[in-house]
Amino acid sequence: MNIPSEIIFGGHVVRIRLLSNEDIVSSDYTGSYIDREKLIRLDNSPDLPESVQAETFMHEIDEMIKHTFSLDISHKDLTVMSEARFAIIRNNKLDFTDTRRWVEPK
Ligand SMILES: [Zn+2]
Repeated sequence: MNIPSEIIFGGHVVRIRLLSNEDIVSSDYTGSYIDREKLIRLDNSPDLPESVQAETFMHEIDEMIKHTFSLDISHKDLTVMSEARFAIIRNNKLDFTDTRRWVEPK
């Protein structure tokens, strides 16, 4: 996945930094979101599977949404939602940026 260096969310620019695992928090983490800095940090270690990094990106986006809107959702539920949405989007090659209207095949 081509991970952008920043995303726009509401009135904020959220930066995305690719780091070695040691710089994240601990070896158990593959990413983190720091609300005060509007910063998503992702593990970019060469041994990390691409799918794990991409799903972590979605997870940290969900952490950002949870934090911004003070959602009352457990980390377990957030993890299920981000993992499931990632799988559906990737496995079906869904492109939400395609604005063409669906036309039934003939
Ligand atoms: Zn999390």
